[in-house]
Amino acid sequence: MRSKTMEISGWGRYPRGVSRVVRPERMKEAVPPREGQVIARGQGRSYGQAAMSADGSVMLTERLNRFLDFDDRPGVLRAEAGSTIAEVLEAFVPRGWFPAVTPGTKFVSLGGCVAADVHGKNHHRVGTFGNHVEEIELVLADGQRKRCSPQQEKELFWATVGGMGLTGIITEIALRLIPIETASVIAQHHPARNLDESLELLEKREFDDEYTVAWLDCLARGESFGRSVLMRGHHAKISELPAEVKKPLEWESAQPRNIPASFPGWFLKPWGVSLFNRLYYFAQSKKKGPFVSSCEKFFYPLDRLGNWNRLYGRRGFVQYQCVVPSVHARRGLRLILEELARSGRASFLTVLKRFGAEGQGLLSFPTEGFTLTLDLPMTDSGLFPFLDRLDEIVLEHGGRIYLAKDARVKGETFRAMYPRFAEWQLIKAAVDLSNCFSSDLARLLAMGGAPT
Ligand SMILES: Cc1cc2nc3c(=O)[nH]c(=O)nc-3n(C[C@H](O)[C@H](O)[C@H](O)COP(=O)(O)OP(=O)(O)OC[C@H]3O[C@@H](n4cnc5c(N)ncnc54)[C@H](O)[C@@H]3O)c2cc1C
Repeated sequence: MRSKTMEISGWGRYPRGVSRVVRPERMKEAVPPREGQVIARGQGRSYGQAAMSADGSVMLTERLNRFLDFDDRPGVLRAEAGSTIAEVLEAFVPRGWFPAVTPGTKFVSLGGCVAADVHGKNHHRVGTFGNHVEEIELVLADGQRKRCSPQQEKELFWATVGGMGLTGIITEIALRLIPIETASVIAQHHPARNLDESLELLEKREFDDEYTVAWLDCLARGESFGRSVLMRGHHAKISELPAEVKKPLEWESAQPRNIPASFPGWFLKPWGVSLFNRLYYFAQSKKKGPFVSSCEKFFYPLDRLGNWNRLYGRRGFVQYQCVVPSVHARRGLRLILEELARSGRASFLTVLKRFGAEGQGLLSFPTEGFTLTLDLPMTDSGLFPFLDRLDEIVLEHGGRIYLAKDARVKGETFRAMYPRFAEWQLIKAAVDLSNCFSSDLARLLAMGGAPT
């Protein structure tokens, strides 16, 4: 397999680095190098440096995207790990199936979804992606191919689910899909006047649905501090659609529009963000009654702008996602949002979701509580000290941050946030003592090597 060097980055475009990349065409070519280190990369939709490696090589899995089998009795799809959610939707929505868990973009690989153990808007009901994986095939450091599942090699399975590609290369995944009657969602919006009400709505049974998420106006002040619009929805039944819909399962994928290379800088200035937030808040709050939405619009609104990460310019941006347990959420999230306001920074998109119980992935991010996501442009050298301060608040309130989004957390902070790291490290050492699988993220956080 030939290799070449190229500049790559995560979705946040920070950091950037030159890596040696290899691209297997067939599963049998997906083998670790005899010497040196490697990390698998799916679609590069993690934000920081999880799928980058300046010191080793990066294995692009995009050509490993064949569907191998589909059993429609339980609804289990067996596919190569480079297959994307977009490809699954295209092929299976018209047949009445949908991924049980999907992140906010469909341009992610199934391997990336297992490795980050991604969550959707339904975590409070169905858990993470890993909960819906029946089996994976993993290529280990010695080249051995191992089948792992919650029943077989289960320690290795749960170290790989959320293990950020550091236990091996996932080549194959058996994924359970859920049946749907239509390709539409019945959605409904509910404005919340402030932070307390935002959290209350997310907890209220009457407002619960298959999928819920709140979009928060992080720049509202005074009595409106923490106001949001709760957006909820469920897969529409045929009986819920207007009679004129003749092909209820038709999957229409809109062509994404691209952002021009030079986007006006004022857009990201606090007043530009404030204007956008205010307009968006009023526009979304108006949609009160239930309405029919396409799955595309409901699940993947950002995908409609092809390369929206370019909005942030060449310096890129950091997405900060944390979770704070419910008991401390009111105080913890208020402190974070107050700190953000004090810093004079503005997050273009601020999202609040409720998580259900913690899963079994040793390094999986979701744990019971509320998760807040901020998008912050790389404008000045004060950003990282500011985020360190947010880390302290999160840690003090028993929470953690999401590795798939991060680009700068300190190793000791990460270890304090992930109490099962030592357990994970023992499994990592048992299957990869020479630390063959490593990334820039792993080196930043000292995640490889023998446990100390
Ligand atoms: C617009 C947007 C919205 C998002 N919304 C959400 C969300 O709602 N919920 C959520 O949880 N995440 C969300 N994410 C993050 C995204 O789902 C994850 O980062 C996911 O891992 C990206 O998949 P990928 O194929 O691009 O992986 P990459 O970014 O290429 O890699 C991510 C990690 O997976 C590992 N990996 C990839 N393929 C393999 C493989 N075959 N074998 C072993 N390891 C592998 C890599 O080594 C790396 O550690 C979002 C990202 C974007 C850009």
